[in-house]
Amino acid sequence: MYHHIKKLMYTVNIGEPDVKFGNMLLEQFGGANGELAAAMQYTIQGWNCIDDLGRRDLLLDIGTEELSHLEVVGALIRMHLKPLKTNREAADADPLVTIAGGGGVGLFNSMGNPWTANYLQITGEVDVDLRSNIAAEARAKIVYERLIDHTDDPGTIDALQFLMTREITHMKAFTAALESLEKNPFSIGMLQPTAGIVDEYFNASTGDGDEGETDMRGPWTSAYGLHLVEPKRDVPGGGLSVQDIDGKIPGEERGKQDEAQKAATSPANEKFATKNAAGSKSSKSATSSTGNGSKKRAS
Ligand code: MN
Ligand code: MN
Repeated sequence: MYHHIKKLMYTVNIGEPDVKFGNMLLEQFGGANGELAAAMQYTIQGWNCIDDLGRRDLLLDIGTEELSHLEVVGALIRMHLKPLKTNREAADADPLVTIAGGGGVGLFNSMGNPWTANYLQITGEVDVDLRSNIAAEARAKIVYERLIDHTDDPGTIDALQFLMTREITHMKAFTAALESLEKNPFSIGMLQPTAGIVDEYFNASTGDGDEGETDMRGPWTSAYGLHLVEPKRDVPGGGLSVQDIDGKIPGEERGKQDEAQKAATSPANEKFATKNAAGSKSSKSATSSTGNGSKKRAS
């Protein structure tokens, strides 16, 4: 059930309207990394998350907050686009919104492309979805940062700073939700990757370039058991793999890789099993001190 309260989550005041900036702001209304995309992605992930009521609650908490962000961005855009309604010169900044939308906000990005469900990343695996959400928050943060860079209006900057900050808050919550699953970070899904091949880093870009590029090494060629494999371009059919692997190593085991528990139900008052003992202690005291009911009973 959804309920609307006639208040913005964050009060918006602007100075002089800037229609071109209002058009840029549409990126966070109907764009790929915008607030509607975030709201829909997390909410629908949450509705699908039926085996893990703890993380379902998280997804619905943040999904709902994103809808409130959409309302704040919408209010901000409406203020900046106001001159479109009456001023022919201003209308040049966004003919689509002026003529088709009457100068209001619409579900378009800053280039007038309609919002699409293709923006959403929903896999139905909570750990995979949480990774997508951490990346989505990082993208939204950087878009807000660039928007702040392109306005001098203090009221606008104030509202955008709030929205940008909340993305980092959400990033922390999604990261904690992913880490508390205590899964091996390379254990995705149920099937094992093929041993041998999984550790081969193919050196597939070689030689020296005109801009000073050369063959480089970094931890990405050697960490987590990886090792460098040079291309065998002169061997017909040699491919990139050093080992003669034809899809399967003899004796290779196929099957489930992950005996770790699947995400389990974790109601708000139940302690998460974490390595941080102090954290669980403080959450217990927080639970007992919330609400008027328990206070009344204590007195
Ligand atoms: Mn947001
Ligand atoms: Mn967010």
